[in-house]
Amino acid sequence: MTDTMYRGCAIVDHATRSLAPDMAVLVSEGRIGWLGPADEAPNLGFGVEVVDAGGTTAVAGMVDAHSHLTLPGGSHWIDRAADPTDRLLAVAEDNARLLSQAGVRWARDVGAPVRDGRALSLTVRERWRGRAGYPYVRAAGCWVARTGSLPSGLPVEVEDGDGLLAAALDQLDAGADLVKLYMDGPDRDTSPFSAAEVRRVVEAVHARGATVTAHSSLLPGAREAVAAGVDALEHGFRLDTDVAQAMAAQGTALVATLAVMESWASFAATTRLPRFASAEGQVALAERREAAHESVRLAYAAGVLIAAGTDFGGGSLRANQLAWEIETLVAAGLEPYDALAAATVNGGRLLGEPGAGVLAEGGPADFLLVHGDPLSDPGSLWRVWRTSWWPG
Ligand SMILES: [Zn+2]
Repeated sequence: MTDTMYRGCAIVDHATRSLAPDMAVLVSEGRIGWLGPADEAPNLGFGVEVVDAGGTTAVAGMVDAHSHLTLPGGSHWIDRAADPTDRLLAVAEDNARLLSQAGVRWARDVGAPVRDGRALSLTVRERWRGRAGYPYVRAAGCWVARTGSLPSGLPVEVEDGDGLLAAALDQLDAGADLVKLYMDGPDRDTSPFSAAEVRRVVEAVHARGATVTAHSSLLPGAREAVAAGVDALEHGFRLDTDVAQAMAAQGTALVATLAVMESWASFAATTRLPRFASAEGQVALAERREAAHESVRLAYAAGVLIAAGTDFGGGSLRANQLAWEIETLVAAGLEPYDALAAATVNGGRLLGEPGAGVLAEGGPADFLLVHGDPLSDPGSLWRVWRTSWWPG
């Protein structure tokens, strides 16, 4: 394998939270062999391919912390979960290419349809393992929900705390890396499970070395899940100060998926679906969007670890749109440095993978080169020129 020197790119200096221009990154044997100012780069003679990376910023391979690999997204995203198995597996292959081209190196899958008794995300994870250019996957298996919370046939449905515990452990038996509980119930004003019921799941799953995350778009479920000590909340569209402070104190992460609502807003023009296109639908969405942005601001102010996800497939985004979430986090009030951290290093911390989302000497050579400065212009993350693993 030839060594490659990427010469002249900027990199993010984490000490100053600013860009260091005109740097160089040496890739050797799949690792970062050297990283520093371009004019101090070692002269390696003919044994190295030099890439003129002038005008780009090298960004650590991104982590999409909330994804659904087997589903395509779009305005009919829920319908697509009923597609035939072969179709869903082909969609996953498309998504691998889209993720790779968009600079996403890691995907955390938080729910997949079950086929032949097993969540398809687990099949996909196993197919992709060790394949050059494919994203690294951590997968939750299937959603576990109280009956009536989601369209029937999609989640594993349970009636009570005993059922919740059994279904959670079933996911681990099937090979899931983490467990995803659905904490919005059939009744919007009531949590589907109590903190005590969820805590039994958290303790049992932790005892097996895995983690528990909770889908939460409403406050009652967020309260119970956080009181139970879950490892993360997905979406967290309705938080209050008490919940945000409890999350920060105990280390519960927030996986933000704000761009879903930007996508829905665009459907007012591109579809005739009443939920998006009607006047009432647009008013309801605007209110929901404002509450979600306020929730992220509360978490940010409290010091919660914020990771970024697209919710592609399980929501309406597509697999190559993580940049949209970073832009939306900035619009909600995060500093661009922190929004980029949400899509890189914080995703790695959420996964418990210290090399994920980090660009450092000695670490994995997983980075993308974007045209521009992501710290003043998050839109530059749409302008991926190349990735260190491309074409893979
Ligand atoms: Zn989702």
